Amino acid sequence: MIDAVRELLKAHLKQLRLPAMVQELEALSREAAATDQDYEHLLLRLTEVELAARASNALQSRIKLADFPVSKDFDTYDFTAMPSLSKPRLLELARCEWIDNKNNCCFIGSPGTGKTHLAVSLGSAACRSGYRVRFFTAATLVGQLEKAQKQYTLDRFLGQLDKADLLICDELGYLSFSRGGAELLFQVFSDRYERSSLLITSNLSFGDWGQVFQGERMTAALLDRFTHRCEIFEMNGESYRFRESMKAKKGRKSG
Ligand code: ADP
Ligand code: MG
Repeated sequence: MIDAVRELLKAHLKQLRLPAMVQELEALSREAAATDQDYEHLLLRLTEVELAARASNALQSRIKLADFPVSKDFDTYDFTAMPSLSKPRLLELARCEWIDNKNNCCFIGSPGTGKTHLAVSLGSAACRSGYRVRFFTAATLVGQLEKAQKQYTLDRFLGQLDKADLLICDELGYLSFSRGGAELLFQVFSDRYERSSLLITSNLSFGDWGQVFQGERMTAALLDRFTHRCEIFEMNGESYRFRESMKAKKGRKSG
């Protein structure tokens, strides 16, 4: 390709906002010339790299928006450590049909059993499948709701939450909230009913959720909606972290 033509082509591609094509133009043109590819094949390759770059950028921004506290996935979860948990059922959820169906999901159990690990894994799977995800701990979510209310930006914040296909609320039950905070959280949860998915992790069994939502009536209404179509996983047992550190200690002693 003549240099002037190539530079002009690059300028046009830039103007058309096709940066991956600009970047790959020279290498792919060279490759096409060397292998006697026709123009249509070259154009096909160039559009493929642009599409791949867009998909990758979109995934990165979905992961960033989700704001996961850690990076975790199913491949690093040791299912043998939690035999009561059905691996096929979880991997089925990773296919995200439940999000399409606006269903919910819940992990309940003692600390260190991998509730956050699995919530992040499911959230990441949803990002990969193109869904919008937001991750909060219950305490952060209530804090942000209260702050938005004080600053008269509550509607805007609720609107942003509403755009998420999946809202993850981690660690419900570690802290209790003010009456106002609990009411705001109740509003967020009930707004999603049959409209979009909610994933909650908690150390409290459903019978104890009244401690968080203060008041039998609010708790009953919430549980009625949340559990209506909900995948519930009970994760009780010894803390994985604790077990690993005991193993390491034993290893050091005998080693
Ligand atoms: P929880 O949210 O239930 O308190 P976490 O998900 O934070 O527990 O798990 C604590 C730590 O132990 C994390 O680093 C997590 O990756 C790890 N972990 C927990 N369970 C398992 C498991 N079955 N396999 C591998 N790692 C696990
Ligand atoms: Mg956790």
